[in-house]
Amino acid sequence: MSDQEATEILSQQNSLSSLVEKILAENQKLKTEFQELTEQEALLRQIAENVKEVFFVISALTDEILYISPTYEQVWGRSCQSLYEDPQSWLLAIHPEDSLKAIATIETQFRTGDDFEEEYRIIRPDKSICWVRVRAFPVRDLMNKVNRFVGIAEDITDRKKTEVALKESEEQFRLTFEMSLIGIVISNLKGKFKQVNQAFCDILGYTKAELSELSFAEISHPEDWKIHRQAKDRLIKGQASDFQIEQRFIAKDARVVDTLLKVVVVCDLDGNPLQFNNEIVDITQRKYMEKQLLHDALHDTLTGLPNRALFIDRLQQQLKKSQSQKHYLFAVLFLDVDRFKVVNDSVGHLVGDKLLIEIARRLEKSIAPTDTVARLGGDEFTILLENIAGKSEAILVAESIYQTLTFPFIVEGYELFTTASIGIALSDQGYDKPEDILRDADLTMYRAKEQGKARYEIFDNSLRDRALQRLELETNLRKALERQEFEVYYQPITSLQLGVLSGFEALARWKHPTKGYIQPADFIPICEETGLIIPLGNWLLKEACQATRDWQLKYPEHPAIKISVNLSAQQFRTPQLITEVENALTETGLAGKFLKLEITESVLINNLETVTEIILELRKQQIQFSIDDFGTGYSSLSYLHTFPVDTIKIDRSFISQMQGDGENSAIVRAIVTLAHMLNMDVIAEGIETTAQLAQLKLLQCEYGQGFFFSKPLSREQAEALIASSPQW
Ligand code: C2E
Ligand code: MG
Ligand code: MG
Repeated sequence: MSDQEATEILSQQNSLSSLVEKILAENQKLKTEFQELTEQEALLRQIAENVKEVFFVISALTDEILYISPTYEQVWGRSCQSLYEDPQSWLLAIHPEDSLKAIATIETQFRTGDDFEEEYRIIRPDKSICWVRVRAFPVRDLMNKVNRFVGIAEDITDRKKTEVALKESEEQFRLTFEMSLIGIVISNLKGKFKQVNQAFCDILGYTKAELSELSFAEISHPEDWKIHRQAKDRLIKGQASDFQIEQRFIAKDARVVDTLLKVVVVCDLDGNPLQFNNEIVDITQRKYMEKQLLHDALHDTLTGLPNRALFIDRLQQQLKKSQSQKHYLFAVLFLDVDRFKVVNDSVGHLVGDKLLIEIARRLEKSIAPTDTVARLGGDEFTILLENIAGKSEAILVAESIYQTLTFPFIVEGYELFTTASIGIALSDQGYDKPEDILRDADLTMYRAKEQGKARYEIFDNSLRDRALQRLELETNLRKALERQEFEVYYQPITSLQLGVLSGFEALARWKHPTKGYIQPADFIPICEETGLIIPLGNWLLKEACQATRDWQLKYPEHPAIKISVNLSAQQFRTPQLITEVENALTETGLAGKFLKLEITESVLINNLETVTEIILELRKQQIQFSIDDFGTGYSSLSYLHTFPVDTIKIDRSFISQMQGDGENSAIVRAIVTLAHMLNMDVIAEGIETTAQLAQLKLLQCEYGQGFFFSKPLSREQAEALIASSPQW
């Protein structure tokens, strides 16, 4: 072997041994790497087997399951082994509704080697359903060919349930929003509409599309916009979280729509305002009803004029003005239609009502538009004249009213004439309350009536004093009955033909502890107004019957004394009247034929039917009736035959003016003649002179009463008169 050969062999040996070393080193390295890999795989397995997701590896070439983590058994409800054995079982578990789509995606992924992600339901062997989310990724070999898919599947049943619930509640919310009968608007902070529901569109007559171009500013009533804006600004500044106001909107057809608007501000998590939720309820109808009710509450239904409440309210405002402005003056006119009752009684309430309406219209025409005419009730009207220059201005209006009322009213074919009495009160008397000025105007109106009606009067303080006196009188009257301050006076009634005493008329007197005797004219009207006339009348009736019965017993030789007692209209309105009269007779023992009850024409005319009934009932006891003050009422002679009475008492006014063949004598003659034709007898009231007596005797008038014979006498005086058996 040559050296050359030997050197070659040596170098080959060296390179071999270095190769062996290299291989050994490489081997060692691989060994460590493999060991590391196995450790990593074990680690991965450990992870895969300890999380709740399912890991899997599938061969891309054979569809074979290379690995499935054990969680599979819980999620799918099937053993891993069964899957290894039958990879198709995986697909068969998919819910039929989801399988088509899921399988298509899987197939595409296998074909293209793309990532896979799909959510679907699986049916477990126990029929329970589970939602899974499956993701898989391709793994490529050194040649960049996909040989496996690794994947992860998770149970998302809980998440799906929440999602469904959320969807359902969203849908419910959407439906509620849409179907709500209340208008709902979501608006941005500037008032622009972000979302509106159908109800809101319906309220204003706009479509959703139209509203999407609009904002609150453009559809709000100009007068209400400021309040709306200010309230929302407060919400933006965080000064409040909601508000509620009544606000008017302008609908598309320019209608004004009253609404109730409720607004809540919606803020983000940091508390910054985001938007407004607005609720709008249409309250137009309610508002209309409210207005109607308010109108009704403040107006008279018959005439449509303001009523007392509204009038008082306007007076109040005027009073405030006059209190704050030194020379401000206003006036109240209180107007009462004269003899309206006569119209009502003669032509009926329907015509009466129409007359009131006509009067209302004329009154409205006689005042300025700024002034107020009101109807207080019945035939009473009030007028408020604002800001007048002086008394003369109020007088001018009163005169013009007087003028307009003088023209006849044609109502339902009747031609009616009317006048009014007007009381004027001016505001310069330092009034505090509206009722006070109204009361003074009312008092003044009464004054005008007393002065002969069809006129106006202006208030002065003496009127108030009189009213105060009257009030005092009223209080004292109530006490007078309890204190037995009343007395009966007896005025003789004589037989004119025989010249002898035939009876008395009982007349009430009030013996006031400090003022002495008060005449009936000053207290009977108040007793009638207050109802005191009933106890007073009953007392007086009994007292008079008792006196008469006592006289009859004491003077049996004297022709039987009769007693006349006045009955007021009020007494006829109480159902007890008949028993009261009967009691008076039985308790005193007076026979009915000695009692005569006096009633006035107006009592008869106003309630002819009921009064007739009462009269007929009492007549069964032989009680007699006479018509007092005949000729002063409104009835005409032609009515006379309808009255179930025995006697006519001709009023004093005719007797006192009877002179020779004058007009009054003719009237008296006519009354006497007619009364006799109707089988009634006649008493002449107020005979004061021999001439009158002579004339009445000539006219065959049966009885007479008057100062010529005697003034009303106390019981003792009357008895003394009987005892003296007077002859006239
Ligand atoms: P009357 O029933 O017509 O009574 C007659 C009135 O005329 C009485 O007034 C009487 O004093 C007055 N008189 C009688 N003769 C003359 C005369 O010659 N000249 C004048 N100037 N007057 C004469 P009196 O007592 O003041 O009563 C006024 C009215 O008050 C009565 O009018 C009657 O309507 C009413 N009255 C009086 N007492 C009662 C009562 O007890 N009950 C009711 N309801 N009314 C009564
Ligand atoms: Mg009388
Ligand atoms: Mg009389």
